[in-house]
Amino acid sequence: MAPVKLHDKTFDTYLSEEVIQEKIKELAAQINSDYADKKPLFIAILNGSFMFAADLFKHLTVDAEICFIKLASYKGMKSSGNVVTAIGLDQDLFGRDIIIVEDIVDTGKTLHNFLPKLEHQQPASLRIASLLHKPDATEFPLELHYVGFSIPNKFVVGYGLDYDGLGRNLKEIYQLA
Ligand code: 5GP
Repeated sequence: MAPVKLHDKTFDTYLSEEVIQEKIKELAAQINSDYADKKPLFIAILNGSFMFAADLFKHLTVDAEICFIKLASYKGMKSSGNVVTAIGLDQDLFGRDIIIVEDIVDTGKTLHNFLPKLEHQQPASLRIASLLHKPDATEFPLELHYVGFSIPNKFVVGYGLDYDGLGRNLKEIYQLA
């Protein structure tokens, strides 16, 4: 695939549509097996995860529910770090098997700040599925149960991920040239 230009930057193809789709089938097969007798609730984090969540969900054969939420983070009054609020999370999570769906885990900060909110509601289980993971960027270690691709610490776009609003529509994933 030819490089793409978004705003002022050029990006080279990194993961093809075919490679991404194959990996998603593998992740879905693993989830189908792990949750065979359960009814998981997927919580997809907008905006970036919308394509991954949709494609993953198509390959599920277990009874599953999905909701889409948006995280807003702001500096709290205390020095304990950022406070994360979830917009659109109206389900009762008590006793549920939860799978968070993320596009990418970079430093891990977003989920690190958000997970306690979910744990507070006492789900039966809580796992994370992330299409991409940048292990070299980790600042807040997390246990990631389902990871599509571990990638170098370079900025990527496409397949739901944007650069300043653009690039989410691309079927492939591109890396900053
Ligand atoms: P973290 O809190 O793990 O550092 O970052 C998570 C969020 O940062 C992701 O959900 C995504 O929105 C954004 N992000 C991190 N790395 C990248 C990247 O390489 N490309 C894009 N487009 N967004 C990224």
